[in-house]
Amino acid sequence: PGERSATDPSRAVTLGVMGGGQLGRMFVHAAQALGYRTAVLDPDATSPAGLVSHAHVHTAYLDADGLARLADAVDAITTEFENVPAEALRRLAERRPVAPGGDAVAVCQDRAAEKAHFTASGVPCAPYALIETEAQLAAVPDALLPGILKTARLGYDGKGQVRVADRAALAAAWAELGRVPCVLEQRLALAAEVSVIVARGADGTVVHFPPQGNLHRDGILAVTTVPAPDVSPAQAAEATACAGRIAASLGYVGVLCVEFFVLADGALVANEMAPRPHNSGHYSIDACDASQFELQVRAMAGLPLVAPRLHSPCVMLNLLGDLWFDAVGRERTPDWAGVLALPGAHLHLYGKAEARRGRKMGHLTITAASAEAARATALQAAAQLG
Ligand code: ADP
Ligand code: MG
Repeated sequence: PGERSATDPSRAVTLGVMGGGQLGRMFVHAAQALGYRTAVLDPDATSPAGLVSHAHVHTAYLDADGLARLADAVDAITTEFENVPAEALRRLAERRPVAPGGDAVAVCQDRAAEKAHFTASGVPCAPYALIETEAQLAAVPDALLPGILKTARLGYDGKGQVRVADRAALAAAWAELGRVPCVLEQRLALAAEVSVIVARGADGTVVHFPPQGNLHRDGILAVTTVPAPDVSPAQAAEATACAGRIAASLGYVGVLCVEFFVLADGALVANEMAPRPHNSGHYSIDACDASQFELQVRAMAGLPLVAPRLHSPCVMLNLLGDLWFDAVGRERTPDWAGVLALPGAHLHLYGKAEARRGRKMGHLTITAASAEAARATALQAAAQLG
């Protein structure tokens, strides 16, 4: 396979992805639409992406035999989930082109390295302190409280975070998190949250989606609205330029999402970034003329990157496992027929075997001719889903 070029999908070229979650599944769908074969490495035999891929290697991410089998099977490799070890990507890169690269992914996997990279790229982030030792804990400036203590590594969907009001709560929270390396961030008053997705090619071409407006519940993304409400053209341009600079200074290849906080005075502050397609970009499948997953395929395969165009205002609702339970905790089936009877409803279910509270089971994108109409229909859908 190494002799073939990934730019010719008509010749049974295979693209590989590390991780088999819903992002991998939507990547696989986009790759297959362009004529590629796909291979997924994921330890779970029933992973959402593994179920729809041509090949599925079920081993741990660092398993030497699994990595060798994936490399043998594919022409280029990407990753779909933040916590695939950067080391696995570095090892794969000895055999095949890997995008994004292990070094860029490693920066995104460590909140301290990530914030240092934002600062080095001239992008502001929330005031913070690194806490790795008792001495650093004691030296935290008062100005960072009340704050949010976050583990430097392995957090997602609000996990690995504790809100702390004062020093006593901070010390208790650090103990609760096992005294692993953490960052303490000042808790900011957020006027809004937006994210920007860029795709960067190996030749340095950068294209972007319009900023998305995001609403989180309990630390988990709940609703994405595009165009982002209450974001001025100047703010949109600034967020996009920041994301482009962050990608360029990482030498990044592939799709990258940067999350921003919008403060009361309109200032933008970078929160975190994800080295992959992002939940807040799922709407692009139905509301744009190229999805974030197609751009990931194009970037990793060296195909042209063309600026995607939003053709319909939209609202995306995340479908969490909670919807599969009624008020007294009995299992139920959400009213799909009711939702699909709504105009512009695009339902995506990830094929996960078991619904659990807080687990991302699918998403619903409502497209419409106007932002108002999309919002009105999304409200109806939310009411129908209960
Ligand atoms: P995760 O990796 O779980 O997405 P984030 O750092 O993005 O973690 O935090 C999840 C959510 O918590 C954010 O989207 C935001 O709503 C809230 N949050 C995080 N950090 C801060 C902060 N410094 N000030 C105010 N709210 C915050
Ligand atoms: Mg986040």
